[in-house]
Amino acid sequence: MLTTKSDPGVYETLARRLEGRQISKTEAMELLLCQDYPAILSTAKSLREKTKSGPITYSRKIFINVINLCRDSCSYCTYKKEPTDELVSMMRPSEVIEIAKAGKKLRCTEALLVTGERPEQRYPQARSWLHSLGYSSTIEYIREMSENILHKTGLLPHTNAGSLTKKEMSLLKDTNISMGVMLESSSERLAQKGMPHEMAPSKNPKVRIKTLEDAGDLRIPTTTGLLIGIGEEPQDIIDSLFLIKGINQRYGHIQEVIIQNFAPKPGTPMSATLPPANSFFLTIVGVARIVLGEMNIQVPPNLTPYTFGKYLEAGINDWGGISPLTIDHVNPEFSWPSISSLRDVTQSKGYSLRARLPVYPEFLFDNRFIPEGLRSYVEPICDDCGLVPEEYLV
Ligand code: SF4
Repeated sequence: MLTTKSDPGVYETLARRLEGRQISKTEAMELLLCQDYPAILSTAKSLREKTKSGPITYSRKIFINVINLCRDSCSYCTYKKEPTDELVSMMRPSEVIEIAKAGKKLRCTEALLVTGERPEQRYPQARSWLHSLGYSSTIEYIREMSENILHKTGLLPHTNAGSLTKKEMSLLKDTNISMGVMLESSSERLAQKGMPHEMAPSKNPKVRIKTLEDAGDLRIPTTTGLLIGIGEEPQDIIDSLFLIKGINQRYGHIQEVIIQNFAPKPGTPMSATLPPANSFFLTIVGVARIVLGEMNIQVPPNLTPYTFGKYLEAGINDWGGISPLTIDHVNPEFSWPSISSLRDVTQSKGYSLRARLPVYPEFLFDNRFIPEGLRSYVEPICDDCGLVPEEYLV
């Protein structure tokens, strides 16, 4: 039962939402600022029970760090490297397949292919690397590697290469079961002088929205999300949630919304910026569930390694991709928890844990979203619920 000591208006909003009615941006903003965490979290959790009553899921993956040069520069990023950096990655086809095969042995089902934003536009080294392999763009190379991975290992590719054009996504669609592009924030202010996206034109919300809409037109199951704590205002967070919800209402292709906390990294311009306060971040996760309703919501467990179980109290239903083999190259400072500890934490909160594919079950059973050519790869690693069969994992 909902109990709250806060403003009667907040109580009414939460009660109405539990009855299945939608809330406005103004009401969502009141929830975000009301500081009645218990009421927000209990409502979010109840909504999760109503709309996502199954197990908590994760995707067993390998992370293929194809090329970590990037034409953009975000003030919080440690993924992007320079050509002279000893940690620069420009993977050859044999290296890509080697990791994919190792992942297959460990019963992974997702091959996450990650690159910086259009590295060949900025770095001659990236252009020569691509030319030496016979390609003129990163996306052409990713397409070929996706096909190789599928044919040689059966792992399902999911590419996250930043803002892509519709033509580029069309090239990838037949080999990628899903794709990812973070909105991060709908705030254009973050691109102003001194702000984290000042030197990252691809993070302009208009560009990201166009990619999300084009992915919707192409019926590509798409992961997106928010990065919290990079200088956005509370109103920006609410606007971003409603923006994603609106795009999904029009196209129905947003398979998952990640709510990710900013974590300051040494050596970056934002190394001294404080991360979002735990209680505020938890409230945002709860408000995300209240706004987004039946959509899938994920918080990465590795970015708050000792306390991630609390997000189950705020209505999430997924932990995202977890690798038993490779590191999180975007956040190398934060190891993923082992799958057994993820299971222990999930069970300690009263839920079961199941592995899903890199595409959520509701999309698997909708013919509009899964290209015919991918079905034969999906069937051996998918049960009647659209999850990875337990016997496949042992
Ligand atoms: S966050 Fe992405 S777009 Fe920004 S610098 Fe890093 S790799 Fe490039």
